[in-house]
Amino acid sequence: MSRIEKQMKKSIERAVGAHKSEGKSHTLPLNPKAPKYVAPHRHCAICQTPIHQDSEPPVCADKECIKKREKQEKSRKHLNIMLYLFPAIAIMLFMLQFIR
Ligand SMILES: [Zn+2]
Repeated sequence: MSRIEKQMKKSIERAVGAHKSEGKSHTLPLNPKAPKYVAPHRHCAICQTPIHQDSEPPVCADKECIKKREKQEKSRKHLNIMLYLFPAIAIMLFMLQFIR
């Protein structure tokens, strides 16, 4: 497990802990014998089908879901690049005014 993953797990655990102390708990019982017990799992990012907890990327075996997820990842990456590129261009244009 990488450092970032460990940090994420920690902050998730903290967030869940903070949630518990709020009173009404939405978390399911951790005891496997409890009637409402649900085994640890995650959900497909596209169709929400329960999948194995360690599934990475978080999609089911459906081809449609894998395709959609790839599309989402691509647009997310593009958005990330734009997020840095546009302010950089703006700063550059701003600086150019002083150079002349
Ligand atoms: Zn799916």
